[in-house]
Amino acid sequence: MSDQLRAVIVGSGPNGLTAAARLATAGWEVDVYERADSIGGAAASTSTTFSNDAIVDLGAAGHPFGVASPAFRSLDLEQHGLEWVTAPYEMAHPLVDDDTAFLSNSLEETAASLGEDAQAWKRLHGPTVSHIDQHLENFLGPILRWPNHPLRMVQFGPPALLPASVLGKALFTTERARALLAGSAVHAIASPAKPCTGAFGMLFGGLGMTRGWPVARGGTQAIVDALSSVITLNGGKLHTGREVTDLRELPPADATVLNLTPRQILRLRGTDLPDAKKRQLGRWKYGTATYKVDFLLSEPVPWTDPRVGQAGTVHLGGKIEEIAFAEDEAAAGRMPERPFVMACQQFAADPSRGLTLWTYAHVPHGYVEKHPNEVRDAIINQIERFAPGFRDTIVAAEDTSPAALEDWNPNLVGGDIAGGSMSGAQVLLRPGLALRPHRLRRGLYLASASTPPGAGVHGMPGWWAAHEAMVDHKRTL
Ligand SMILES: Cc1cc2nc3c(=O)[nH]c(=O)nc-3n(C[C@H](O)[C@H](O)[C@H](O)COP(=O)(O)OP(=O)(O)OC[C@H]3O[C@@H](n4cnc5c(N)ncnc54)[C@H](O)[C@@H]3O)c2cc1C
Repeated sequence: MSDQLRAVIVGSGPNGLTAAARLATAGWEVDVYERADSIGGAAASTSTTFSNDAIVDLGAAGHPFGVASPAFRSLDLEQHGLEWVTAPYEMAHPLVDDDTAFLSNSLEETAASLGEDAQAWKRLHGPTVSHIDQHLENFLGPILRWPNHPLRMVQFGPPALLPASVLGKALFTTERARALLAGSAVHAIASPAKPCTGAFGMLFGGLGMTRGWPVARGGTQAIVDALSSVITLNGGKLHTGREVTDLRELPPADATVLNLTPRQILRLRGTDLPDAKKRQLGRWKYGTATYKVDFLLSEPVPWTDPRVGQAGTVHLGGKIEEIAFAEDEAAAGRMPERPFVMACQQFAADPSRGLTLWTYAHVPHGYVEKHPNEVRDAIINQIERFAPGFRDTIVAAEDTSPAALEDWNPNLVGGDIAGGSMSGAQVLLRPGLALRPHRLRRGLYLASASTPPGAGVHGMPGWWAAHEAMVDHKRTL
């Protein structure tokens, strides 16, 4: 009989696939079961949305953490066809009555564009930028462990624990610098007035100024395809159209890895979880939702400041107070009149993608529109503030509401794209207080955005889940 260890993976999002790839390259026999007809979860892309050659990212679009991911680097995804491409500016944040703020792939350049806040910007971001890899090693894993680089943690910690709005007001005098920080911070999908959002501002900004905020050439699907290539070349198998509802129906395995969020795990039969673990998972909270609208354009967006057209990502929400207000409203269950909007102009980095504009707005959890086109119009209005005439460039638009997101991928509960709220204790303790958060019990592991280091296409939860399985079987890489 073969002594090869065997793993089954439930779900083929980037974390499920990364766990599968790590185990397959370590010599395990791996089978991935995915309910959808194609793999990739919220990292999939399609060329059919507008019935032409334009490629639309169905979920994730921009990849500051993907390009920096130790997991993706270790799996050598570039050797499997993945190519990162960046636009001239990593990110732009236009303001109505001030100049635009830009994040460039350089601390000096970014600081220089911030005028009187140049030195303050450098003081805040300099330590992160100079030691970005050490900071990533500290943060891209379970939080309740001795950090790999304690000194860096001590440097990073105090400002990072603060709300980004407090940091912005204390350190900067211009709205431009404050807004630039807030735009990065709001990737927590929480108000920049919440504790710990300083960390998101500093990390996202630090990544932009070092590794960049690239897109994947040809679509985010290229990341998925590269992971799938690693898996299949190492003998792993991918089974699509296979929704798993009972683990006892799967072939026996030494490790079962769940690429799911807590609510789905509790619905799954045959998990054999201790009651205390079930109670912990039951306390998990889901957060603010995303409402996505993709536009097909006749020409690039007519930004008032034409340099904005050279940015891969554009943050639309105005000043920091406006953003904080909109996020607070969404978190409280009220649809903001001017929601925070993120736009991605993939074509600025990769002209092969076609003239599509990927956008989403932060809206209340599970939001149902009060009237047709309510959110689409709110997104268009936000863009029009900084690009009058945008409406006339729209050839077609496709909405994906919170309910449609969840129908497509049940991990996106109520339209929450982060696998659970990133506010309060859940920022750090995912999915609760646990020394080994990626291990539910011996033989059962959790690899999803609901585990550290959280949401994003970087594969690190999958990497850690595979690590735990290998530790339990005394085979680590
Ligand atoms: C609209 C949107 C925009 C985003 N933007 C960005 C961005 O720009 N940059 C970024 O880094 N991140 C972004 N994200 C977040 C990122 O996509 C997610 O954090 C990431 O995909 C989470 O990966 P995952 O592997 O944990 O789960 P997912 O990608 O959600 O995959 C889970 C998979 O499990 C499958 N599944 C669920 N239940 C079962 C079952 N019972 N049986 C079998 N299969 C099952 C699902 O079908 C799915 O394929 C975005 C997400 C969305 C939705």
